[in-house]
Amino acid sequence: MTSADAPRPPLLTLTGVAKTYEGGTVALSGVDAEIRRGDFVSLVGPSGCGKSTLLRIVAGLIAASAGQVRWHTAGGARPADVGFVFQDATLMPWASVLDNVYLPLKLRGVALDKAKPQLMDALARVGLADFAEAFPRELSGGMKMRVSLARALVTDPPVLLMDEPFAALDEFTREKLDDDLLDLWRSQRWTVIFVTHSIYESVYLSERVLVMGARPGRVLGEVAIGAPHPRDAVFRRSHDYADHCAAVSAALREGVRP
Ligand code: ADP
Repeated sequence: MTSADAPRPPLLTLTGVAKTYEGGTVALSGVDAEIRRGDFVSLVGPSGCGKSTLLRIVAGLIAASAGQVRWHTAGGARPADVGFVFQDATLMPWASVLDNVYLPLKLRGVALDKAKPQLMDALARVGLADFAEAFPRELSGGMKMRVSLARALVTDPPVLLMDEPFAALDEFTREKLDDDLLDLWRSQRWTVIFVTHSIYESVYLSERVLVMGARPGRVLGEVAIGAPHPRDAVFRRSHDYADHCAAVSAALREGVRP
C-alpha cells in the first residue's frame, strides 16, 4: 500500500472542540481535525497539551465543553465498538491472560466456550498464543501490553484509540510493538488514533501527524507522512524519515515560541 491510494472517506470531523475542566483548566480550545477511514493518525505534543483529553472526547469518555464531534456513520453515532489501549496495560492480576482478553466479550454476555476461538485468534494476532493460561505477573511489560492490545481487538473494533501505549517500554520492545501494530493495522484496516510524545514514533507509524501545542491545547498543524508501507529498519535510517521528523519538530517549535 502507498500513500497514492485513493483518498479515504471521512470518519470523524472535529470542529471547534474545546474542553475546560472543572476548576478552570482550559485543556483544549478550537480544535479542528478530520480523521478518515483507515487512517493512522498520531497526536503529538508536549505533556499537558490536551492529547489525552482529545482522545477521551473522541472515545466518548468525557464530553467536550464546546464544539462538535461528528461521526460520518449511519445515524451520526460513534461506532458501537471503539477499542481503547492505555499506557498502563490495566490487566486484572488475578485472572489468566485468556480471562483478561475475554473481559469485553464476557461483558456482552458471550459464553466462554463460544468466545474461545475468538480469544485464541486475538492472542495469536499479538503473538501470545502460547500464553493463554499465564498470569500477568509472569509476563514482561511488552507482553502485558500485547495482552492489552489483544483485549482491545477481540471485538474487532473498526476504530482503535491508543494513549501512549508503549511509552513505558524499553526502546527495543517499543520498536517491535510498533512494527507489530503496523502489521496489524495494514491487515485489519482499522482507523487508529495514536497519542505519543515521541516525534520518532509518530513519524514511523503514521499517515498523518497532528502536531499539538499547549496553553491552550490546540492543533498547530499537520504533517503528512507519505512514506510507503511496509515500513522497517531501512525506513528508520532513511533521509525521508529524518526529513519528516524534522518537519514535525519544526511544527512543534512553532507552538512553544513566546
Ligand atoms: P496530555 O495528554 O497532552 O499530557 P492532558 O489531556 O492529559 O494532556 O491534559 C491537558 C490539561 O488538562 C493539563 O493541564 C492537565 O493538567 C489538565 N487535566 C487533564 N485531566 C484533567 C482533569 N480530569 N481535571 C482537571 N484537569 C485535567
